[in-house]
Amino acid sequence: MSIQDILPYRLPNFKNKRLLDPHVVIVGAGASIAACKTDKNGREVPLLKNIHNILRLTDELEKYNFSNEQMGDFEKLFSDIYGRDEYKDLQEKLEFEVCNYFSDLKIPDEPTLYDYLVLSLTEKDAIISFNWDPFLMQAYRRNIDVGNLPELIFPHGNSGVGLCNDCKVKGYAGCLCPNCFKALEQMPLLYPTGKKDYNSKSIIKNEWNRAKDVLSRAAGITVYGYSAPVTDVEAVELMKSAISISQMKDIAPFTIINLPENENEQRRKWSEFYDVKMVLYCNEFKQSLLWRNPRVSLETLFDAILQGQPRSTQKSFKEFSKLRELQDYVKTITEFDMCI
Ligand SMILES: [Zn+2]
Repeated sequence: MSIQDILPYRLPNFKNKRLLDPHVVIVGAGASIAACKTDKNGREVPLLKNIHNILRLTDELEKYNFSNEQMGDFEKLFSDIYGRDEYKDLQEKLEFEVCNYFSDLKIPDEPTLYDYLVLSLTEKDAIISFNWDPFLMQAYRRNIDVGNLPELIFPHGNSGVGLCNDCKVKGYAGCLCPNCFKALEQMPLLYPTGKKDYNSKSIIKNEWNRAKDVLSRAAGITVYGYSAPVTDVEAVELMKSAISISQMKDIAPFTIINLPENENEQRRKWSEFYDVKMVLYCNEFKQSLLWRNPRVSLETLFDAILQGQPRSTQKSFKEFSKLRELQDYVKTITEFDMCI
């Protein structure tokens, strides 16, 4: 009889002392705002609610006689016109302009919180982003030489991702397919339509399946700046089903990174997902396990609670002004092998 047989929850999976289970980070709009409030060229990252103001699309909407009240909430307005014949041209124009705007955003040169986030995880881990902006993809791309980076999953589509439908390849928007050298197509963005249909486009369905897979194996979850709006009911349902499969609620850390004023709401919103002794509420990324123990966040925690041998935190992140310095530092963190 093993210890696992008498425990009501699953223990983490290790192979040769190396943790196999992923740490999954779910990011929403709040994370992008914390990482890049404006882009390299000073352009603002719009929220969905007021996106038409920032993109100067109000003149276009006025041509269709929408009132100021109707234009107060883009998400609702878009839901109302979506799929209706009389608004076909308008819908296409809005979709094109929104995607175009996001595609042009550029991550600032100095290290951003997305660089730290990508470099805080390893290849067994995953980041599920519900954002359309390309910053996370751009952060991944410029850190690729560090190696051992997490998988990125975009269930709502993303402006930074390009696809080759022939080769089933996912790459960077605007680049060539590494297989057949054809230009990659822009990944579609999933627009708010009241009822989001995750099954209509095969690439979106695929991202959705990837999200479910990593969540069902997760040994730790961090929800960063994601408000889980009512329009994302499917996302929350997916998380619920996947997390119950993972059976690690009792010992898996659940970290919420969000603003102080959202604490009660956020704790309530995710209460089904965590055991109360395993939840950590942080107001910024720098308070999280990922900052304190980059690349070995879960290993460090499980060492402490399962073996009673806390690791030192001397390899915590610190603030670097140059990306190269951050990358060089991360290359010195090799403790994920658990052989030390
Ligand atoms: Zn191809």
